[in-house]
Amino acid sequence: MKNIILDTTHIKKLSTHLYDYTTPTPLMRPKLISINKIFAKELGFDDIDLESNHFIEFINGSYILKGSIPYANAYAGHQFGYCVPQLGDGRAICLGKLKTHHLQLKGSGLTKYSRDGDGRAVLRSTIREYLASEAMDALGIPTTKALAMITSDTKVYRNYDVENGAIVLRTADTWTRFGSFEFAYQNKDKEKNLKSIADMLILENYPHLKDNFNKYEELYFEIVDKTIELIALWQSVGFMHGVMNTDNMSASGLTIDYGPYAFMEEFDSKFVCNLSDHEGRYSFENQPFIAQWNLSVLAKVLSPIASSELMNSYNDTFIGKYKKRYFQIIKNKLGLYDTSIDDTSLILRMFSALQAEKIDYSSFFYNLSSGDYSFINTHQLKFWLKMYKKRLENETVSKEYRVQSMKKINPKYILRNYMLQDAIDKAEQGDYTLVNDLLHIAQNPFDEHLKYEHYTKPNQDFKAMKCSCSS
Ligand code: AMP
Ligand code: MG
Repeated sequence: MKNIILDTTHIKKLSTHLYDYTTPTPLMRPKLISINKIFAKELGFDDIDLESNHFIEFINGSYILKGSIPYANAYAGHQFGYCVPQLGDGRAICLGKLKTHHLQLKGSGLTKYSRDGDGRAVLRSTIREYLASEAMDALGIPTTKALAMITSDTKVYRNYDVENGAIVLRTADTWTRFGSFEFAYQNKDKEKNLKSIADMLILENYPHLKDNFNKYEELYFEIVDKTIELIALWQSVGFMHGVMNTDNMSASGLTIDYGPYAFMEEFDSKFVCNLSDHEGRYSFENQPFIAQWNLSVLAKVLSPIASSELMNSYNDTFIGKYKKRYFQIIKNKLGLYDTSIDDTSLILRMFSALQAEKIDYSSFFYNLSSGDYSFINTHQLKFWLKMYKKRLENETVSKEYRVQSMKKINPKYILRNYMLQDAIDKAEQGDYTLVNDLLHIAQNPFDEHLKYEHYTKPNQDFKAMKCSCSS
């Protein structure tokens, strides 16, 4: 690991009360579950690094790479609509930057920000995060990435159960959250600290804004645009985050902090995947509105350094722009490239048929991509199909082109909760083969995986499975 050198100089640009130098607390008897070799190579690790004992110690936080000075970030946040002034990396520790990737261990022990928590992550949630981030990346959706994952003999207590502590090493182009600005806003030297966070974000993620006169307003506008793109992509693949608190919203428009997430199976726009979300605040259909609400919180806390009027009026355009982008993606999923005034109504009718007839969301689009519509055998969808076929007659592209393009955008495989559960059950018995096979499927969702053909279909026993926040 001699050639891997991390950079932590960036953190010195922030005021010392925005972060805390912290050393990881390693797990007992760490066992390697999986390395994302494709990503490891991109980061610059070679085969010798990946096979060395130092690698597992590095993921366990007991081998600190050259240049690394581990630290945890302070942040605040609105959780389920309520302001929580003191949050932070309670179980995550940043190690430093490698190329443009900020490395972070999740589950590596107590930090200044752990509050009542134990600083740990359990195996099941670690597997879920590891696989989901790779699945999202392969679907072309901005996300954190995962490098490797370990389990251990360290006992962790959740809901009266004893589980195994695990760690995932994950990366992001920034770990700045909306909540990072909320923390600065609520504490001393707010203007100076808001500027220092914004300047660092601009330097790393929005360098083209660096010398602009209105750079903080423009930064906000670009965060709005990136969030619109992110949510349109989430909705298009049926991804539900489950905990869209402002501390889980990335300032560079990434999907971050995978918890009780789910990919839509039987279509239900009101589906709530988080067992603890009793009011359905983070239901599938609410996600765009919540994102906009979260952006209004961001506008509020940026107001000491940027014009509220400009930020709020920009955020007012969110839903209009979001709908335009979302419908454009759905049209692409349907293989519709020309424009017809009836397209919106065609799409709305499709969703109402999917909802009424409880159709599996991703199989529907995947099957439609084949151009063979014999799989459609329900009343409302049959009616919709007539309209769709008629609409296809107006398309100028060939059927071959359409089929090929649709297959590139409509995945055959999504990570269904029951697949993840199968992999978790096996991993808890010490067998990590399914986790690694699912990693391969997650990274190649448009391909055939004959051994796992059964995973293209929903499992009725796990219908509407929900997860809780306690991970
Ligand atoms: P999450 O719902 O995982 O995004 O976490 C919300 C906040 O609680 C974050 O500040 C986390 O760092 C913190 N947190 C969650 N679980 C733990 C834990 N087991 N120990 C310490 N802090 C935690
Ligand atoms: Mg979080």
